[in-house]
Amino acid sequence: GSQVVDRQVDSVCPFCGVGCLLTYNVKDERIVSVDGRDGPANHGRLCVKGRFGFDYAHHPQRLTKPLIRRPGVPKDPGAAPRPGDWGAVFREASWDEALALASGELARLRDTHGKKALAGFGSAKGSNEEAYLFQKLVRTGFGSNNVDHCTRLCHASSVAALLEGVGSGAVSNQVNDVAHSDLIFVIGSNPTANHPVAATWMKNAAQRGAKIVLADPRVTDIGRHAWRTLQFKADTDVAMLNALIHAIIEEGLADEAFLRERASNYEALRENVRGYSPEAMAPICGIAAETLREVARAYATAQGAMILWGMGVSQHVHGTDNARCLIALATVAGQIGKPGSGLHPLRGQNNVQGASDAGLIPMMFPNYQRVDDAGAHQWFEQFWGMPLDRAPGYTVVEIMHKALAPDSDPHKVRGMYIMGENPAMSDPDLNHARHALASLEHLVVQDIFMTETAWLADVVLPATAWPEKTGTVSNTDRMVQLGRRAVAPPGEAKPDLWIIQQLAQRMGLRWNYEGEESGVASVYEEMRQAMHAAISGITWERLQRESSVTYPCLDADDPGQPTVFIDRFATADGRVKLVPADIIPAAERPDTDYPFVLITGRQLEHWHTGSMTRRASVLDAIEPMATASMNQQDLDTLGLEAGDVITVRSRRGEVAIHVRRDDGTPCGAVFIPFAYYEAAANLMTNPVLDPFGKIPEFKYCAVSVQRG
Ligand code: SF4
Repeated sequence: GSQVVDRQVDSVCPFCGVGCLLTYNVKDERIVSVDGRDGPANHGRLCVKGRFGFDYAHHPQRLTKPLIRRPGVPKDPGAAPRPGDWGAVFREASWDEALALASGELARLRDTHGKKALAGFGSAKGSNEEAYLFQKLVRTGFGSNNVDHCTRLCHASSVAALLEGVGSGAVSNQVNDVAHSDLIFVIGSNPTANHPVAATWMKNAAQRGAKIVLADPRVTDIGRHAWRTLQFKADTDVAMLNALIHAIIEEGLADEAFLRERASNYEALRENVRGYSPEAMAPICGIAAETLREVARAYATAQGAMILWGMGVSQHVHGTDNARCLIALATVAGQIGKPGSGLHPLRGQNNVQGASDAGLIPMMFPNYQRVDDAGAHQWFEQFWGMPLDRAPGYTVVEIMHKALAPDSDPHKVRGMYIMGENPAMSDPDLNHARHALASLEHLVVQDIFMTETAWLADVVLPATAWPEKTGTVSNTDRMVQLGRRAVAPPGEAKPDLWIIQQLAQRMGLRWNYEGEESGVASVYEEMRQAMHAAISGITWERLQRESSVTYPCLDADDPGQPTVFIDRFATADGRVKLVPADIIPAAERPDTDYPFVLITGRQLEHWHTGSMTRRASVLDAIEPMATASMNQQDLDTLGLEAGDVITVRSRRGEVAIHVRRDDGTPCGAVFIPFAYYEAAANLMTNPVLDPFGKIPEFKYCAVSVQRG
């Protein structure tokens, strides 16, 4: 209770994209508990991660001093990191020595091999200000656009489709707008685990009579609240969605006036879905034609029907096509541009929306202004006072390939700066990614723990955890929200903003951000200018007062626009552009050697690569070890019982893991969360990319399953 604590500090949850506001209760300079605050996304609610997942910040394995790799200690990509016992690999150093070494080596590689020799990964779990400064350092200090972050692995394909179709990559309607929906279409998403408080708004809507439709090869908790569950065969999204569109048009339920006035390319779409009748698609996607028609009718005739989707849609070689179909579905039925409707790609990390907005993207400056657009290029050269590269940079997976490129490749990546991301766990085909990281001539990693990525670094810089700094994050609902510093960082750990500025200055940039906490307010204000209209009404001063403001927000009096596209879309001609899609199969199908499909994802208690949640005592106690989920029928066929150890193997790697029973996982599939080093799911995943979003196919590859 508040009476026994020294102080209470208002902030934002550091985990998922829902963006719950919370209060840290601090006693003796430690966070002792967390309360939900009445934020616009959570109204006081928190899930188990937000409420109990805070003590990672005080974990004894926190990095407290800069570290430098000992001379002659090889980088072994196969070695297990020892996060609490790194003394044989690294030695402690002063900040001065570590920063001089890191900046000196990066500058040397740039000057010797050219600007493309360097790359940076920023973070979707840092603040907007950190993301903005990080990309500015890469573009102006490293000299290329080789900057990216985990949005590439998450919603890059959704964003590609949305930018093309509606002109903006962000959501059209906020999650709690489902209060105005009478149909909620959830596809490729497990919201109870991944967006738990958002799921409670959906369940509340179902209680008052809204129909939830869950469309997912893997049936999860939200299915218990669903009116209809479409457990379609994995990889057949386009077939199923085109069948729904076909049914709406054929049954005369298309919103012809909306299509005439607000859409383009409808003819081509209609022509394309002609061959996708529910009857023809039923055997492909595994859903009865009558069920498809029933869902299509309910969706088209709803007063308001919202589509919410997750990585199950985006992480495929046809991820962009999947999202194109969702845009077409909403448009054909006129279910966008009004309350309770629209398109909502649920963002996974707390700041993946904001980090993308701030420009942690290789082909775009802040606010999605293309680096190869002459006007944008000129504007930013002037704004930053530095010459900028016109060529888009490489994406996450491409950078890993470029790190392993032959010496003769003029674009070989030789040095990297990674802030708060853990590609040695989160990239596909980890053996390849870890080799790529280990092969770098110089790797600088800035983090709060000795992550699997930091284990391969030359210099490790100890940073601050979220409760130790002030900054803004932007949630899945386009709310810019202020987190405040609640406790001091441990030892000599420093704010990420300070570290970025130190490296920038030592690489020759004359930056001068003054003010408290490494000038966070002045960085925010510079970013606000760089983003033009989008957040121009959201000043730092206003955030101090209101804590959360939704964008677009054009001026000081604008309350923010929770629903967009009411009058026009953000495309050049103001119309939604319909893009037909055809069936493209997964890159690697099951066969006799690898007869199962591997699906990766998350679970409620652990977030991403687990570096924080596995060090949060309550969360670790609930889910202490890696498990693979399989259907009872498959367990019976293989003679397995829940709790047995199995080996799951793909063409790229294998893990030994305990199996658990989950009848929501379809027959022929294995589900493994990617948070566990000791059974890293991404050792097996396929790095093949969607051609538009450059997102890897995390949701589908072929594996074998054996006992023991
Ligand atoms: Fe944090 Fe997301 Fe849980 Fe809210 S729903 S408490 S933002 S993890």
